[in-house]
Amino acid sequence: MHKFIKEAALSIGFDACGIARAEALTEDAAFLQQWLAEGKQGEMGYLARNFEKRTDPRLMVPGCKSVVVVLLNYYNDKTQPAAAPLIAKYAWSATDYHQVLKQKLLELEHKITAAYGAECVNSDYQHSFVDSAPVLERRWAQRAGLGWIGKHTQLIATGIGSYCFIGVLMLTVETEYDEAVPDRCGKCTRCIDACPTKALTGRSMDARRCISYQTIEYKKKVEPEFQSLLTGRALGCDICADVCPWNKKWARQHQHPELAPVEAIGRWTLADWQQMTPDVFGKTFKSSAIQRAGFRKLKENIDIVTENKQSTS
Ligand code: SF4
Ligand code: SF4
Repeated sequence: MHKFIKEAALSIGFDACGIARAEALTEDAAFLQQWLAEGKQGEMGYLARNFEKRTDPRLMVPGCKSVVVVLLNYYNDKTQPAAAPLIAKYAWSATDYHQVLKQKLLELEHKITAAYGAECVNSDYQHSFVDSAPVLERRWAQRAGLGWIGKHTQLIATGIGSYCFIGVLMLTVETEYDEAVPDRCGKCTRCIDACPTKALTGRSMDARRCISYQTIEYKKKVEPEFQSLLTGRALGCDICADVCPWNKKWARQHQHPELAPVEAIGRWTLADWQQMTPDVFGKTFKSSAIQRAGFRKLKENIDIVTENKQSTS
């Protein structure tokens, strides 16, 4: 079954698949509790909800015995015109990656249940997840032998790097499990040193200081403390991933037509972004994950990036 699931995942188009035994994430629970107590989740209150369930899949999906983890490489080597406000790589896809992953996870589930029976999943509960509990999805990927969690707190997938989406499917059957791989960050601190807002310390990220959080999840305007530190980024940030030597070694252009980019991102100049109206935003990013940030927030970020450029020119 282990081999079948992995081959099925690759045949559907996932770039990697691993399987871990479902058990309580005791160490992560303690770490997460401390992280939440320090308020590092900022306004992402959903990270504190259902705490017990998030740290033990058997409480989330009754009968869960195995956690299947799949990865989808989203790295693209395209660049934006000089001076254009930068958009993080994960958001280039014209189709929201949540939809792409959910569809593929459903295909994988169908293949497994067709071969091994409908009882492989507990259909009374949500049992497939994309981006629903980010910290723990990375941990499951690590436990499933797919890579390790780098000092930038992202998964570094062996042979792929950290530009990958993670999907999780919980099964109610036992199978063989993959071995976790050791951490390979060593003495490197490039991501910590490169982070303009000093969001990374040790093995922890203060989400409130992260440009991704400030430019996307944070509903108010980017805090004054961070405005001059956006380093051209209007939506998300790839700095800590870009400097990682493992990404330099492994990251390659993805081959997924479902993640074809919004053509305008590679073409729009600073002026195009500045002139973007709500109507143009709605049409250009109709099905993209950029919709989640919303027009007002993106426009506000573009204005900050523009002001920064003017003040340094
Ligand atoms: S995404 Fe950017 S701001 Fe956030 S931790 Fe990485 S380098 Fe720092
Ligand atoms: S930049 Fe260095 S420390 Fe940071 S995740 Fe990559 S290897 Fe690890």
